Amino acid sequence: MAEIAIIGSGFSGLATAAVLAKEKKEVVVYEKNKIIGGRARTYETNGFVFDMGPSWYWMPDVFEKYYNLFGHTTADFYELKKLDPGFKIVFGINDSMEVPADFEQLCELFEQIEKGSADKLRKFIDQAEYKYNVGMKDFIYMPAHSIKEFMRFDLLKDALKLQLFSAFSKHVRQFFKHPRLISLLEFPVLFLGAMPKDTPALYSLMNYAGLKQGTFYPMGGFGKVIEAFEKIAKENGVVIKTEQNIEHIDVENSLATYVHSNGKPIAVDAVVASADYHHVEQKLLDEAYRNYDESYWDKKVFAPSCLIYYLGVNKKIDKLSHHNLFFDEDLNLHAEEIYKDKKWPTAPLFYVCCPSKTDDSVAPEGHENLFLLMPIATGLNDTSEIRENYFEVMIERLTKYLGEDIRPNIIYKKDYSVSNFVNDYNAYKGNAYGLANTLFQTAIFKPRLRNQNVKNLFYTGQLTVPGPGVPPSIISGQIAANELLKYFKP
Ligand SMILES: Cc1cc2nc3c(=O)[nH]c(=O)nc-3n(C[C@H](O)[C@H](O)[C@H](O)COP(=O)(O)OP(=O)(O)OC[C@H]3O[C@@H](n4cnc5c(N)ncnc54)[C@H](O)[C@@H]3O)c2cc1C
Repeated sequence: MAEIAIIGSGFSGLATAAVLAKEKKEVVVYEKNKIIGGRARTYETNGFVFDMGPSWYWMPDVFEKYYNLFGHTTADFYELKKLDPGFKIVFGINDSMEVPADFEQLCELFEQIEKGSADKLRKFIDQAEYKYNVGMKDFIYMPAHSIKEFMRFDLLKDALKLQLFSAFSKHVRQFFKHPRLISLLEFPVLFLGAMPKDTPALYSLMNYAGLKQGTFYPMGGFGKVIEAFEKIAKENGVVIKTEQNIEHIDVENSLATYVHSNGKPIAVDAVVASADYHHVEQKLLDEAYRNYDESYWDKKVFAPSCLIYYLGVNKKIDKLSHHNLFFDEDLNLHAEEIYKDKKWPTAPLFYVCCPSKTDDSVAPEGHENLFLLMPIATGLNDTSEIRENYFEVMIERLTKYLGEDIRPNIIYKKDYSVSNFVNDYNAYKGNAYGLANTLFQTAIFKPRLRNQNVKNLFYTGQLTVPGPGVPPSIISGQIAANELLKYFKP
């Protein structure tokens, strides 16, 4: 018996590995970088602990369900704090809206902005909750090999209510008119997916997650969540090897036989690739064994890449919340420039995360840990000059909002953008969040979990089912592991 090789140590790779190891399989995870966690890596410097990727902990039930599989609970690994306010939206200099954790308070806030909207919000969120419950219980755990999986009567009946075939933007506007309320509801699909007009209304389930379940924070940062996944994997016998770049997958008689890591061949019983799908197919597999060719990827709609600045600031900044969305420019223009025109934005929206508001451990005393993120189109040329220009754009707007210039107080600054995603993760066109959540990139239309030509090669992660984001990546890992177990025991 040889090992099962998992390529990549992000959430999906670690989840696949642990589920397989729990079934007594010999599993080795190969990670090209020094640090595990993939896009959710942590970066520590000068007393600051930066989460390099995810900062919004939504859908805590998905994490809990995963931990329960291994006899654990979330509290075994970290304290989960519900943020109140969940987040803040900045519309102008003295004009912002804090989204309260309590749903009834949020209804009151809606009512103040648009008369009659409190009841509408209750109805909107009831429908979103229904979608969440059905979607997260049944649909999302399906491998989506074929339409037949969805042909059960109970699921078909639910499918209509899930609103796969109507647009998110239209759905929101059937309930609300005020642009602020619309922005508040549209931001999750825009930041993580696609233009709201191209996104199925199904995704209002994210509004249920963000506004009713709430926005959480794992104390210590997302690095604690990766540590939890690492601990579970190791408890079950997974071996994790870092600085191991997989360069090729050998195939013989329709079976993956070897992977090559740092020039060394390793015999395998099966491979699960959690690295970016395009990279695995185009760079690690010979052409005859690929599911898709280059033109397939070229036609896909990708979720945004981003420009990020990690900042260490040597003073406290009172006016910021933990999550701050700067929506003080035209959302539609920015969305068009990300998804349609594919150019650097004229007047970008951006996001400022300040976890040191909640967590003293991520910055030295009296300091703030900041993360500025601006969504951009994939594939853009990101010279240091362009990055720096946009840093000035963001910091100018921040200065105006704060009423103080924090530039002299920045003691640490690091930028990260398209070419870093390519170099660090082999990300196609430097994508940050995988594929956009459009209808024709949902479920059976996603890149397949199983290789059609190589029986023991499976894919997992944000580019296959069910989609982008930490909770879907965790679920993706579980689906891939279960499919591989079926391959071993048909
Ligand atoms: C800036 C940013 C902010 C985000 N914010 C949020 C958020 O707030 N909430 C949320 O839920 N989600 C968020 N996401 C999305 C979420 O982080 C991802 O969807 C998820 O972490 C993806 O996990 P994965 O396992 O699919 O892939 P990855 O984390 O990318 O893991 C793949 C791994 O494969 C490795 N690899 C690649 N090629 C090779 C090779 N040849 N050999 C060996 N290893 C290889 C890579 O180094 C990487 O470690 C964010 C993402 C980014 C980038």
